[in-house]
Amino acid sequence: MCIQYYRIYTCGCKRQEEFVQCDERLGTNVRCDPVRQKPLPAPLHMCIRHMVDEGKDEMHS
Ligand SMILES: [Zn+2]
Ligand SMILES: [Zn+2]
Repeated sequence: MCIQYYRIYTCGCKRQEEFVQCDERLGTNVRCDPVRQKPLPAPLHMCIRHMVDEGKDEMHS
């Protein structure tokens, strides 16, 4: 079965990472349904969306 890797950030967001086709589907544009969800090592920070830009707060002060 094809594998969809994902990471879960500390903010709780799940982000899809690389997709790997299994041998039967390799080289085609077909993928298994459903695909196997496989977690990657969890990052120790929040996702880009929830990370606050440095200096953002200063603009309002
Ligand atoms: Zn597959
Ligand atoms: Zn997030």
